[in-house]
Amino acid sequence: MLQIYNRANELRSSLKNLGAVGFVPTMGNLHAGHLSLIKESLKHHKNTVVSIYVNPTQFGENEDFKTYPRTLDKDVSSLESLEHQNKKLFIFAPFDDKEIYPSGKSVISACDYTSSSLFEGKLRPGHFDGMITVVKRLFEMINPQHAYFGKKDYQQLLLVKELVKKFELSTKIIGMPTTRDANGLPLSSRNSYLSAQEIHQALILPQTLQQLKKVYLKNKSLEDVQKSIQKIKERDGKFNYLAVTDACDLSRAHESTKKLILLGNYQVAETRIIDNLEIL
Ligand code: AMP
Repeated sequence: MLQIYNRANELRSSLKNLGAVGFVPTMGNLHAGHLSLIKESLKHHKNTVVSIYVNPTQFGENEDFKTYPRTLDKDVSSLESLEHQNKKLFIFAPFDDKEIYPSGKSVISACDYTSSSLFEGKLRPGHFDGMITVVKRLFEMINPQHAYFGKKDYQQLLLVKELVKKFELSTKIIGMPTTRDANGLPLSSRNSYLSAQEIHQALILPQTLQQLKKVYLKNKSLEDVQKSIQKIKERDGKFNYLAVTDACDLSRAHESTKKLILLGNYQVAETRIIDNLEIL
């Protein structure tokens, strides 16, 4: 059964006394990546909430807030087509920003979170403040047992885990694998901005990450990877960043780091492509 809510108080009262709820926050324009998170929640919960909200506070002034694809009718159809026998699926598509920010759009600062000023945080000042704020608001509203986030936005996933720890929230955060197209490009709502030729250019990022993983696995040498990264960046100026880091907190990787992750952001025309690859 699928129900759509536009008002936070109506959603809140419907969820009262329902028991455990799974939650998938999204900005809509749903694709197979989003649906994989929603299916996972449906598998484990009688009740799943999917929020569809293009959150203004996480966009910078020169970013694509106005043009971000808003496709609610199509999103509802995609959700209707999901198998969810005996399961309840609640869509929360706020009527306006007041449903999320009843007392104005002030944001909490993510500056004391481990990695908030690195990588995406550096490229998009204020982005994580807005993201952390909206996730906290939605968690307060829904109080989910589990919330599902994509590893595609790996830094976001780490920061949300930190949010939960910091405010001692009871929600457990589940990180889900990245869904890719047949060529290995991570699915993203922003891929709709790209022409066929630009999609082809975007593939440079996942291909580079695979290549760097091979470099590492050959001699298990971080130095080899760092040298390759240096060369790649010198050859191609379109990497906004490309790095190998500690997967636990995105700090600089050392030979003794147990869990490594490659992170990259690649500029294709006006669009920034984001991807990552866990190595160990
Ligand atoms: P968004 O609508 O872009 O804010 O994404 C909503 C959630 O879906 C976030 O947790 C994303 O990390 C996740 N997500 C987006 N794209 C993918 C993908 N290709 N594979 C898996 N999860 C994804």
